[in-house]
Amino acid sequence: MIQPQPFDLILFGGTGDLAMRKLLPAMFNIHAHGQWPEESKLICVARSDYTRGEFLDFVAEHARGNVSQELLEKDSWARFCEVIDYVAIDLFDTDSYQKLGVQLEGREAFNRLFYLSTGPNLFGPICENLGKNQLITKNSRIAVEKPLGRDQKSAREINAQMSQYFEEQQIYRIDHYLGKEPVQNLIALRFGNALFEPLWRRGRIRDVQITVAEQLGVEGRGEFYDQTGALRDMIQNHLLQMLCIIAMEPPTSMAGDGVRDEKLKVLKALKPLRGDDVLSKTVRGQYSRGIVNSKDVPDYTAEKGVAPDSTTETYVALKAEIDNWRWSGVPFYLRTGKSMQTKISEIVINFEEVPHSIFDNEPGMPTPNRLVIQMQPSEGIKLSIMAKKPGDGMRLTPVNLNLDLSKTYKRGSYNAYQRLLVDLMCGNLSLFMRHDELDAAWAWIDPIISTWQDRDVRPKHYPAGTWGPAASSALVARDGFSWHEEGH
Ligand code: NAP
Repeated sequence: MIQPQPFDLILFGGTGDLAMRKLLPAMFNIHAHGQWPEESKLICVARSDYTRGEFLDFVAEHARGNVSQELLEKDSWARFCEVIDYVAIDLFDTDSYQKLGVQLEGREAFNRLFYLSTGPNLFGPICENLGKNQLITKNSRIAVEKPLGRDQKSAREINAQMSQYFEEQQIYRIDHYLGKEPVQNLIALRFGNALFEPLWRRGRIRDVQITVAEQLGVEGRGEFYDQTGALRDMIQNHLLQMLCIIAMEPPTSMAGDGVRDEKLKVLKALKPLRGDDVLSKTVRGQYSRGIVNSKDVPDYTAEKGVAPDSTTETYVALKAEIDNWRWSGVPFYLRTGKSMQTKISEIVINFEEVPHSIFDNEPGMPTPNRLVIQMQPSEGIKLSIMAKKPGDGMRLTPVNLNLDLSKTYKRGSYNAYQRLLVDLMCGNLSLFMRHDELDAAWAWIDPIISTWQDRDVRPKHYPAGTWGPAASSALVARDGFSWHEEGH
């Protein structure tokens, strides 16, 4: 197991939803796994006026239930609490950072990890105030959560604010999808096996589908979501990052900038979607009243915080193409939505069919070979191949070679945030987005948004609890394909 060097981890937004649901539980897991150096501290920072004891009660109430239960043994929670401190600061107020300075005094030799789990409006002020209070050491790193801007211009502004105080090599832009075990395994599968490389290209792969479907609606984040929409919230970051991992050339090494350089080349090779292409290759949807998991879901526009006449999309499907030798002509279909029928996140690689079938296949057979990398509802990789049905004759049926790593390794408690936090602690940048990647992703997304605005493309309604607007099926059907659905 990797052992990070001693650090001080300063978590801004330490009372927030993300901190309670993901970050503190992941830190507990790291601690319980014995990867937390003895002298390392976690300093949580937020506005709420808690004493340390009150904050620990708050954490016990809101975060403890989210940790890996098998790690909650004997005194593991109490030992984790010993490393936690709390400082109440209004992050806009320069002088109050001195309270943080007191906590960090004499600890300059340790790696200093600033984790910004706050709204992006605070990123600039936090950097500036850390700088003014001389709290940034040469061993400092800064990690930032999405959203990193709402277009290329605002992303550049955020970057300019951060880069006044931190070098690019100190900035860790988080996309937690890259920390997910199946995505890491996709990298292992592609570059740890010679088997797939000759097949990983046009002529062998027919189409790629990336789906992130949520059953949840806006869940109390209506105001934020209504200003953002599915394209900015999911496609610009998570789905494009997964596309990059599938499509990138083999990096020279996993260390340093190898992976980031290759991902950038993919983003730059994305065929721009502009004008009429946006109309024919993207689908915008918005959920209307329906039933998800036996529960009534209201119209999106009736959700708290959402404008009654909102035209924000809660669903996007689009066809992306990559203009390079390896991928020319191979469609990459991306879709994501809220209040969908099923919760599923998966990457599906459909291989070409055999050029001529010599078998007596049943009609309506799915594509013979398919690699499915599933992240939700369970993690795993399946390769579907054709095999003979037992019994008379030569009737073929698809069977799955199932790479169920949770059973093989019984690793249980390792999650995406845990993995990325350990990378942050160890200074491993390869799974974090570099500024030029972010810039290239926005450069591809911005014209889609402006075309939707200029051409008044309104979202098509889909009932909550379905697979999105019918136009989404038509998008892939026009190319002669259909979306992969579980059990299909
Ligand atoms: P949240 O629940 O609203 O928490 C915001 C945190 O920031 C709270 O701890 C709040 O402290 C603190 N804060 C706000 N203004 C402050 C100020 N002026 N001074 C000091 N502290 C201040 O937000 P969240 O859901 O945790 O999200 C945090 C960030 O992560 C956001 O950028 C969000 O977009 C991103 N993100 C969230 C999720 C998620 O699932 N929640 C997923 C991905 C990315 P007090 O509570 O003490 O006021």
